[in-house]
Amino acid sequence: MSPPDDHIPAPPDLPSYTVEDAVEAPAPEKRRNRDALERHAGTGLVRHNVGLEEGIDPDAAKVVRRLERGGHEAYLVGGCVRDLLLGGKPKDFDIATSARPEDVRSLFRNCRVIGRRFRLAHILFGGGKVIEVATFRRNPAMEAPEEESSEVFDDLLIRSDNVFGEAHEDALRRDFTMNALFYDLDRHQVLDWCGGMQDVQHRTIHTIGEPITRFREDPIRILRAIKFAARLDLGIAPDVYDAMVSTREDLAKAARPRLFEEILRLLRGGAAHRSMWLLWETGAMSVMLPELAAFLDDDEATDGGGSRLFRTMDAIDSMTKARGRPLDDIALWTLLLKEPLDEACDGERDKIHAASEFLDPVIERVAVPRRIADGVRRIVAILPRLAAGKAGRFARTDLIIPALDVLEAELLANGRSTDAVHKMRAGHVAAPGRSASSRPPAYRDVRGPRQRRGAE
Ligand code: ATP
Ligand code: MG
Repeated sequence: MSPPDDHIPAPPDLPSYTVEDAVEAPAPEKRRNRDALERHAGTGLVRHNVGLEEGIDPDAAKVVRRLERGGHEAYLVGGCVRDLLLGGKPKDFDIATSARPEDVRSLFRNCRVIGRRFRLAHILFGGGKVIEVATFRRNPAMEAPEEESSEVFDDLLIRSDNVFGEAHEDALRRDFTMNALFYDLDRHQVLDWCGGMQDVQHRTIHTIGEPITRFREDPIRILRAIKFAARLDLGIAPDVYDAMVSTREDLAKAARPRLFEEILRLLRGGAAHRSMWLLWETGAMSVMLPELAAFLDDDEATDGGGSRLFRTMDAIDSMTKARGRPLDDIALWTLLLKEPLDEACDGERDKIHAASEFLDPVIERVAVPRRIADGVRRIVAILPRLAAGKAGRFARTDLIIPALDVLEAELLANGRSTDAVHKMRAGHVAAPGRSASSRPPAYRDVRGPRQRRGAE
């Protein structure tokens, strides 16, 4: 087995920028401009002049402008600013604002306020586009009074992060420095309170503040670091990497549906190979999916099973890139678990019982929904017949689509022709009354995981 290609590309060709003093004497012309400059005085803000307009979604820009006209502060934040600076195409555009959710709702007709504790506004546009608007919040962990007992500090886990705050506090509550950059559309400036711009230039993941504390507060950040490193081909700062390794056991305390969702994100992003490698190497896999980690640990005993699994991850990545969208969730979970599941059932007389013995603890530990677990079980059972072109009645079930994806990935991983799968798929899609995808609509996709964040 060899690690994924670790080649770190040269720093991106970022637009040149200059650093201005946050409290620079304001130009006399506009009162509003002066307010904005004074607003962040004393917060340690560094402004970078960078023109990112070209890549910005016009609807997101409209939302920012309307919030500003309504008398609020509003910026583009997080992943979209990071991705634009790295020269990538953002998946979505998020906005942070001083406006409260109800203020946002009063400004937009096409607005839904979602979430009970972590309340967010979703502004809906045509084609299923959602612009998420979140009120500035601060990290409640920073509220803890100094005399608080050490017991409290043993458990840093954040259970609610719904405390409103100022722009700079909102930046500092975020996970990684490159995720905490705000973009000011009026001044064409990136606002940087924690050195994120430099880390983007060095393509290195740094936590905001002390890494062990930040991972203890929310262990899901360990998986997020892996996701960004893998998907964006970034390095992880050594102290951050060490902290990921030393706090990995805390993943057992994280909300289980979030673990499930983040594992899927690792598989969906076109970098499943690098993600699974890092997950295994940091030991995070042995906390969440010990069956899989043990399988990878012993490549000899499994007769090259680990190498096969990583080739399968490569196949997922090439299919994701070719389609421009991720594989079905059931297909992804099947491909992840199939090798160790086959091993667990090998030589067992009661294969159904052996499969349950293997899957039940996984389902429990990372909250795999029944629908997905049953899909995995059924696809693994039917796969040998499907490979022989004998799908029978199974071809009339919704599971045929993910099952064909699994078969295609397996054939690709073994360097074999996938023509037969394409033929079966073409025949299947042509059949009347069948849809080509069983994925839920885009809006539900956005809501689920976001609503859960921080609320548990
Ligand atoms: P992606 O491109 O995968 O959407 P993203 O950075 O936009 O990446 P999101 O999950 O959409 O990630 O979150 C939006 C922003 O919210 C992040 O950029 C980060 O600033 C903040 N954030 C998300 N999750 C956490 C977390 N667990 N802890 C702290 N901040 C977080
Ligand atoms: Mg995002």
